[in-house]
Amino acid sequence: MDLTTRIKKSRSLIRLLRPLELTSNDLIYPIFIREDGKKFEIPSIKGQRYYSLKDCSEVCKEIIELGIPSVMIFGVLKKKNADGSVALQKNGFHTKIFKKLKREFGDNLTLISNVCLCDYTSSESCVYMEKGKVLNRKTSEMLGKISVIHAEAGADVIAPAAMADGQVKYIRAALDETGFEDVPIMSYIKTDSCLFKPFFKAMSISKTPRKGIDSSKFRADIINQKMFMAKVDLDIREGADIIIVKPAITNLDLILLTKQRYPDIPIAAYQVSGEYSMIKVPSEKGYLDEYPLLMETLNSIKRAGADMILTYYALEVAKLLKGET
Ligand SMILES: [Zn+2]
Repeated sequence: MDLTTRIKKSRSLIRLLRPLELTSNDLIYPIFIREDGKKFEIPSIKGQRYYSLKDCSEVCKEIIELGIPSVMIFGVLKKKNADGSVALQKNGFHTKIFKKLKREFGDNLTLISNVCLCDYTSSESCVYMEKGKVLNRKTSEMLGKISVIHAEAGADVIAPAAMADGQVKYIRAALDETGFEDVPIMSYIKTDSCLFKPFFKAMSISKTPRKGIDSSKFRADIINQKMFMAKVDLDIREGADIIIVKPAITNLDLILLTKQRYPDIPIAAYQVSGEYSMIKVPSEKGYLDEYPLLMETLNSIKRAGADMILTYYALEVAKLLKGET
């Protein structure tokens, strides 16, 4: 009998041989909190809902009870403005969220702040642009200012999502200058994917979200590994503590490459809204089995080298791992 047959002798032996396995410690739950206080199911991300400042504590309590260590905060503002300066308002909405959750949960819940201009600019562009060119420095300086405001309010980790070159350097300097040397930066590196669409719909308050914004100018080309890895190199050189690869399932090779090149840098993979829908919708129609498919995708992401996974399924995954679902 050959070795590969022997090591599959029983299900318990197969379990015993597993080198790494997904646990609830690996999960980060992204949540959407609305400034207007309206609570309803997110039409583009079926099964997920908007929270208000008032009721977001409840879901955070559940997150902690399920053994999930962290939450990614997305604040949906009532009003955005042309230059996004609404982000710098005293007592802005994001500040209120971080203050409240930090006060209520302290170190029991790691609060990650998604820092991007699209949350604040009326064009909903992630970066400042002029005549079709990305203004990296202007964008990075603004992201630095926003990061400090969020850190002051209680954000534990800053996750810049704009993909502006230099953003990590500017944010690190801004945090260090204001006494937040201990706040890590978790930098998003995204391929130019159509899988973000349900998310942008969820975050948008515009009738024509991101009209005229050419995201290929700041995200990495899906076809070009080297372009993606150049951005990984840059962000790590500038001081990124954690790298987020986004989306996950279409970028398993990039997760692996990053892990191989930087074995000491933790990698997060973001199972984005489109990936969530790719599981949710056909499962509801009976074409696929939701939870087996979900676990297969998450385990593949983990196998590729992700240390942690952001997923809209986080609560359900934690329950599945506990055997509650
Ligand atoms: Zn953005």
